[in-house]
Amino acid sequence: MVAQQTTPRPPLLATSLWHCPSELAFVDADDRTNIVHYSAPSKSRPGDANIVALDTMTGASCCNCRAAETNRQCWHAELVQAAWDGHPARVLASRYSDTQLNTVGRKAKHLCDWARHRRFAVHPLDQLNLVAARSEYRRRYRVTALVAEVAAEPDTAPAA
Ligand SMILES: [Zn+2]
Repeated sequence: MVAQQTTPRPPLLATSLWHCPSELAFVDADDRTNIVHYSAPSKSRPGDANIVALDTMTGASCCNCRAAETNRQCWHAELVQAAWDGHPARVLASRYSDTQLNTVGRKAKHLCDWARHRRFAVHPLDQLNLVAARSEYRRRYRVTALVAEVAAEPDTAPAA
């Protein structure tokens, strides 16, 4: 296993100090995009919910709340990574051995592919387990930095 290094986190927003990752409710995980969604009740629009998305590959987040609409950082986007890191599927994946993680990831991938091939609805837990296994794999083998580096490269493909 590769030794884990911690990257320094930017200081939290003042508004984030009043919130907790557990205020974000898990919505779904998409194994095709590796994006997980969380929601939180909106204070500015009572009865509505803010949806925040986290790209588990790059760590990028996106929110539809009023602060994010005005290009300000919001606590949803700031705490969604912590919410995902605390998700039971993510925590379970972090406790697997390398062999177990490989087995669980391959099984979840097989189940997702099989359901799509048969044109069945993919079970949300299979998608969740696959995204959690991929997240843990990236954390262990530090693939995230490489993926972000490649994503930041300018697109050299000719425009169609
Ligand atoms: Zn937000």
